Amino acid sequence: MGGSALDTEAVSAALLAMEEQLAPDAAAGLAAAAELERRATALGDDGLIRRARLCRANMAVRSGEITGIAREVFDIQQWAAEHGDRILEARAHGMCALIQRLSGDAAKRLEHSLSAVELLDETATVFTQIWHRTRLADALADTGAMDAARQRYRQAEELARRARHWELLNVVHNNWAHYEYQGGDAARAREVIGRMIADADAHGLELDPPTLHTVGEVQTANGEYAAAEQTMLTCITRYEAGQMEAVADLVYYRLTLARARRGLGDLVRAQEILDACRELGAELGMQAILVEVHEEQADLHAARGDHTAAFAELKAFIAARESVRSREREAQAQARQAMFETTEAREQAERFREQARRDPLTGLHNRRYADEELPTLITQDPELTLAIADIDHFKRINDQLSHDTGDQVLIQVAHLLNIGLTAAVPHGFVARLGGEEFLLALPATPLTTATTILDDIRQAIGGHDWHDITGGLPVTVSIGAATADETSPPNQTATLAAADRNLYAAKRDGRNRVIAGTPRERLPRAYRDRDVA
Ligand code: GH3
Ligand code: MG
Ligand code: MG
Repeated sequence: MGGSALDTEAVSAALLAMEEQLAPDAAAGLAAAAELERRATALGDDGLIRRARLCRANMAVRSGEITGIAREVFDIQQWAAEHGDRILEARAHGMCALIQRLSGDAAKRLEHSLSAVELLDETATVFTQIWHRTRLADALADTGAMDAARQRYRQAEELARRARHWELLNVVHNNWAHYEYQGGDAARAREVIGRMIADADAHGLELDPPTLHTVGEVQTANGEYAAAEQTMLTCITRYEAGQMEAVADLVYYRLTLARARRGLGDLVRAQEILDACRELGAELGMQAILVEVHEEQADLHAARGDHTAAFAELKAFIAARESVRSREREAQAQARQAMFETTEAREQAERFREQARRDPLTGLHNRRYADEELPTLITQDPELTLAIADIDHFKRINDQLSHDTGDQVLIQVAHLLNIGLTAAVPHGFVARLGGEEFLLALPATPLTTATTILDDIRQAIGGHDWHDITGGLPVTVSIGAATADETSPPNQTATLAAADRNLYAAKRDGRNRVIAGTPRERLPRAYRDRDVA
């Protein structure tokens, strides 16, 4: 057993390392996550299994695999919600946000990013705190809510600084600058870049190629072409020195370098690098970047004064952009279909959840529902009255008539309780606690008002024409009620116990009556009764 506890810790630590990895190698991560899932399964640890699965989903999405992932992530999120695992739930929402980003649904992406941050509590690691805040800022920026985004970036920046997590601080800065640049605020982007470089210098951090690319873009946007050229050359050198597999990035780096060189007026070398960019982009089948290559080529022709060529290139640019857009729309439709399937799953889960909280015989809520609703009701509503109704001599109905008749009586009593209660207290509810016992919850109803309502209901049941069901055998109920505010702090168990004691008193006093009273008032008497019995 000791070995298994150790292994649990080891798997958890390995997962944490994977969860907090800044630039994961997707292919290697995929294999590693699958291995961790296998180990978690061998340990029979449901939480670890889900964490491993989420890591695997993350790696799969990063390597371009979306099919089936949305559904899996949704299942993990459901499980985490049901088991109160807030951090896992937050991570699952983070993954949903990523999937939504890929499917081009900015609003849904924002929703999930927000849920992720809301779920974080003090048990979240500082990495998780910073990470999800940055992702939320990204999502906000993507919908154009730059002010709201800046606020989160600032929070994330401060958290990272306080935690002295320089790599993460670098990510915060990079994303912030990128979105300022994309939003067209080159000056603000430059400010952020300035802090990023100062921090990196101060802490001996070497900027990685993606970050250098952001710097190069921002410099180009600010007309700092010489600096941008230097940045992009460093970026490409570092990129080529590294072992990085994703050659696709290089295409973007070349394009930015071409732009910087055009800005410098170095049109020949701009053309050289743009040709290299086009070649690699075509080789990799990167349609989207080829659109930008057309645009840059048109600008280059124009810079050279060749307006005929520029015009022809512009037409090519527009045609290419259209074809990419329609393909993007198709891909988005596919991703949306995948998300739609999970919406379906969510609705199904909701239906199932609702069913599990209903009593099949009467259609009323059941004890489980009551157990879930009462804790909040009781703390939020000082005037909540709870009552327990119990059918009098129900055993007789079963015995003298039939069990089936008993069922019919239960259904009819449930109906009368329900219409009687909801007519008087629209936000109230009736739940069948079991057998012939029902709970009535009357929010915002002081005990005296509640007593009148309950007595009306009691009379309606006793006065109902039972002939068709029982052939004339009377059906009555006894009810015991109590208010929550008499226990301090308001307490569900104490209130229900008081209502139950009152019910017991009603039975002893001759049935077919309502007895209501505060726990304090009834307590001694109920005890006395019980002692006598
Ligand atoms: P009292 O007035 O003191 O409440 O007497 P009672 O006969 O109503 O109470 P008791 O608790 O002795 O009997 C309740 C009976 O309800 C016993 C059980 O067989 C019956 N019962 C419980 N659930 C169902 C059900 O779903 N359908 C039917 N037909 N009977 C049920
Ligand atoms: Mg009974
Ligand atoms: Mg009973």
